[in-house]
Amino acid sequence: MKSKITVAYGDGIGPEIMKSALEIMEKAGAQLDITTIEIGEKAYLSGHSSGISPADWEVIMANKLLFKAPITTPQGGGYKSLNVSLRKTLGLFANVRPVKAIHPYIKTHHPELDTVIIRENEEDLYAGIEHRQTQEVYQCLKLITKPGSEKIIRYAFEFAKNNGRKKVTCMMKDNIMKLTDGVFHQTFKDVAKEYPEIETNHFLVDIGMARFANQPELFDVIVLPNLYGDIISDIAAEIMGSVGLAGSSNIGAECAMFEAIHGSAPDIAGQNLANPSGLLKGAILMLNHLGQSKVAEKIENAWLKTIEDGIHTGDIYSEETSKKKVGTDEFTEAIIERLGEKPLKLPQVEYPEKITPIKIQLSPVVPVKKTLDGIDIFVCENDRNPNLLASALIKAVEGSPLKLIMITNRGVKVWPDGNPHTFCTDHWRCRFMAIDNCYISDKDLVELQRKIIFKSLEVIKTENLYNFEGKLGYSLGQGQ
Ligand code: NAD
Repeated sequence: MKSKITVAYGDGIGPEIMKSALEIMEKAGAQLDITTIEIGEKAYLSGHSSGISPADWEVIMANKLLFKAPITTPQGGGYKSLNVSLRKTLGLFANVRPVKAIHPYIKTHHPELDTVIIRENEEDLYAGIEHRQTQEVYQCLKLITKPGSEKIIRYAFEFAKNNGRKKVTCMMKDNIMKLTDGVFHQTFKDVAKEYPEIETNHFLVDIGMARFANQPELFDVIVLPNLYGDIISDIAAEIMGSVGLAGSSNIGAECAMFEAIHGSAPDIAGQNLANPSGLLKGAILMLNHLGQSKVAEKIENAWLKTIEDGIHTGDIYSEETSKKKVGTDEFTEAIIERLGEKPLKLPQVEYPEKITPIKIQLSPVVPVKKTLDGIDIFVCENDRNPNLLASALIKAVEGSPLKLIMITNRGVKVWPDGNPHTFCTDHWRCRFMAIDNCYISDKDLVELQRKIIFKSLEVIKTENLYNFEGKLGYSLGQGQ
């Protein structure tokens, strides 16, 4: 029976590499029932600010599987990234990006590279919730959730178990982002206990990425929040030999999307220069997902044989390792000619008849009681004088059950006892806490703001300060 899939040719080099991948799949005997949709630049420019028409959304929802070439997101002008919307709307929480050196046929400094990057796909700064709050200050909200972290971390461990991988590494930055990256790291530690057979370790993301770029052989499976995952997967593809070599799957509970990791490469579009390997790798992941693993195996072996025979596109061509520099079309023909062949020197690929899909069961939610400790009120003030601002606020809130305990500017404490060298913008976080830990309610917070606004101070936003059974739900000020 044919598998129903939706195909999008995308922008830039998209149509060239999609034609290549579809031709190879057809010649290899893939059983696909394809519906084509138009997404990306044309859809954006014809007035769909999301990059897709409602009718094409319906097609994706009906087939639940999208095979997609890269698209171009026009810069500025209020266009939302369709890639991000697709991943989030379809609940594609896991972005799986395998990278493996094809040594010595594709030049790399890291012949031992063989890593799977598992990137959280729905949260983090990619929530795209941004605000300009004052003349000077712009904000992007970083949202990391406990269930979102648990889903991706469990997925990483299950993936490692199913694929004979031995180690899972977590990367984050919880020395700075103690709550957001902190919950990701804590969840990693908790879930890891359920997989004693798998080795684990963790790195702060800066040194972790540096180590990976220098010694990728130390890493087997890496699980990361969205932004770090995005960055490390480009590093991974680049050290493998070219960004044109890596594919990815985006997996959700019901839907899935397969693509190359690179973009639409407008600089080489329409010139028969693009390497179709990244999208072809996406196709191989898709065929495995669809239960057509023997077709996937046939394609991957033919691809490896082509690389081994030294037939290379320009991005991976090297005098030392290549025999023939070819364009997209010739590379495609070379793979098709080799369907049924296997590499002689590189390890041959063998996939099991059926690959068991990973199903994630989240831990039950244990309710935690939360109480109000106070409120951070963000004020816009051009005067740059924290002492004057503090005096005005203290006077404004007289009689309130909350008192001003701290003012920070870009996170650094500037009152009380600020340092005159601290650079201040027009954006002040003013922290008010309940006096003597007395009980306060939402009404007290509203009243507090009313008093401040009444004194002509400009409140631009607020954050409630909660306490979760003794654990602070807010960070301290730097220098507090
Ligand atoms: P890019 O990945 O398109 O290109 C980076 C560099 O790599 C370019 O020099 C390009 O020529 C080269 N390159 C990329 N793919 C190649 C291939 N298959 N073969 C040979 N060389 C290849 O990144 P960019 O230039 O930053 O982005 C271009 C556009 O792509 C932007 O509009 C961006 O928003 C979009 N983009 C889309 C996706 C997606 O659809 N999933 C992902 C990333 C970027």
